[in-house]
Amino acid sequence: MRRHSAVVVFYGIRCCQTKKNKKTLKTLPARYKVEFEWLKEIDSLALCNVQLHLEQAYKNYFRKLKNGESAFPKFHSKHSKQSYTTNNINNSIRIENGLLKLPKIGFVKTIFHREVSGKIKSATISKTPDGKYYVSILTEQENDRVLQKTDKQVGIDLGLTHFATLSSGEKIENPKHYRRYEEKLKFLQRAISRKQKGGRNRNKARIKLAKHHQKIANARNDFLHNLSTKLIRENQIICLETLNVQNMQKNHHLAKSISDASWSKFVNMLEYKAQIYGREIRKADTFFPSSKTCSYCGHKLTKLELKTREWKCQNCNTLHDRDLNASVNILNRCNSGDSLVIPPALADVAQEAPASSGWGS
Ligand SMILES: [Zn+2]
Repeated sequence: MRRHSAVVVFYGIRCCQTKKNKKTLKTLPARYKVEFEWLKEIDSLALCNVQLHLEQAYKNYFRKLKNGESAFPKFHSKHSKQSYTTNNINNSIRIENGLLKLPKIGFVKTIFHREVSGKIKSATISKTPDGKYYVSILTEQENDRVLQKTDKQVGIDLGLTHFATLSSGEKIENPKHYRRYEEKLKFLQRAISRKQKGGRNRNKARIKLAKHHQKIANARNDFLHNLSTKLIRENQIICLETLNVQNMQKNHHLAKSISDASWSKFVNMLEYKAQIYGREIRKADTFFPSSKTCSYCGHKLTKLELKTREWKCQNCNTLHDRDLNASVNILNRCNSGDSLVIPPALADVAQEAPASSGWGS
């Protein structure tokens, strides 16, 4: 068996044990070991973690039930991503001579893409649908990655025409990973349906498709990581709008593009990287009309269609680039109280032909 591994170091502490006096599920995993002998082959902390995850799933379910959005815990599909988490007790997880020691499994040949420093707390082993194994290791250590302070700040408007428009005037292309590989995906999907169910060839075709999906996911993650790290390095304060992606996806024409853009993942990356590098993320409220407000004079339009990429303010006659105007508004909104930022002149910003899709309030 070939094992590919990558190691991700997270900062922070996560605790396996639940606090005292807290309600927990009554049935402990050990009870099932009589009925299912194979459970004895698995290390007990892995089982303990599964139980904690299940408890969390139930908690989420009941919490959401109150808000009217229930999601009952589902069984995992055995063909999607599989993973388990185990904790380090008495050095049960360690790295020796380039090998990773895991409880009950022993030493595993591992390719480390970065050095693991700090005290190992836990390890999560996952298998992607294309059959590759990864491990991510949680360690605890002093955070020594805080960057030197800068007085630069930026407002970001996330969109579909451009993935991001910065208040500095910079526009970042939307890589549209899914669209780019869509044809090949369809081709592979069709190949599966032509193969006999349960047959070996069908499984081969399934793995081919899974590999292609993984390739798209990798390209997307690479793009998001590069951009979020760049923004965090360059700016002390990053201002965003609060996105309600679920609501936006109700627009069926845009749903696929929106999920491909992975804004939530991007915002999440910015947030945790801000913590590591000592930066700040600020968010404008959901209902702030960032696109419809003139960033020069504050005049508010009653209506601005999605396809309108440029508009002229009736009050002060300023010609606005839709996304740039929004990003400046977001920056100013998050800094209300501080000095207002004047947007760069539209003439300085690279102009592009108006496109049909975009997003904004
Ligand atoms: Zn105006």
